[in-house]
Amino acid sequence: MEDPRLCSLETFWQPLQTAKQRVLLLDYDGTLAPFRQKRDKAFPYPGVSEILEKIQQSGKTRLIIVSGRNIKDVISLLGLEQLPEIWGGHGFERLLPDTTLQRKKIPATCSLNLQKAFLWARKHGYENNCEQKTSSLAFHWRGLKEEIIEQLQKKVGTAWKPLTEGQRLEIHPFDGGLELRCAGIDKGDTIKQILDECAQDTIIAYLGDDLTDEDAFKALKGKGLSVLVRDTHRETLADCWLTPPGELLDFLHNWFRSSTKI
Ligand SMILES: [Mg+2]
Repeated sequence: MEDPRLCSLETFWQPLQTAKQRVLLLDYDGTLAPFRQKRDKAFPYPGVSEILEKIQQSGKTRLIIVSGRNIKDVISLLGLEQLPEIWGGHGFERLLPDTTLQRKKIPATCSLNLQKAFLWARKHGYENNCEQKTSSLAFHWRGLKEEIIEQLQKKVGTAWKPLTEGQRLEIHPFDGGLELRCAGIDKGDTIKQILDECAQDTIIAYLGDDLTDEDAFKALKGKGLSVLVRDTHRETLADCWLTPPGELLDFLHNWFRSSTKI
């Protein structure tokens, strides 16, 4: 099998130097920050915030964070002085650098069923496993034993399934849990919207680790560079694979150097 690391990175940096517009899209958890059982302690790998600050302050790149988290959580964990554009809830909400906040509308029945899903979890003692977001509910099981995870997967999936029937709600697995999410809000749609806003000759890259990032990799196919950031390789639509934090930091430093050379 061809080594997935042997991707087009070698030829990526030269055009980046002379590009008129550059867009760097980054997932947060598992990409810029290691997973933590305490999700509010998932700070970026050492050195990541510093290089992102440099990229952001150079004014040569439109830096965008695309996360499944709420925007306010990303802001507090990222710790950047100059805020970049941030998309939260997989694209449900968008914070522009001028602090304008945009939110998509979701059907009232989705909100109601998300609330029902949370009440079910609370009733069964899983309140602390839940991350409540406006457009979704994430159930986390990171750090639990394999057999417990298997039981939870079945139990949560079975309880949530009726809430999706005939509704605009979907169940999505992610690395470390299951998410019940309003249909039509995913990272693929986010990427398509961003691509629509870009000139055709924009150089664009997306870095992500999770199954939810595959939508973004797919949307970027043939239009930009997609990078899987992960300790181990897996089946993916991404163009290449980097292991964090070393290769991730090399990528970000190379991006900064190339984009500020001219
Ligand atoms: Mg992630």
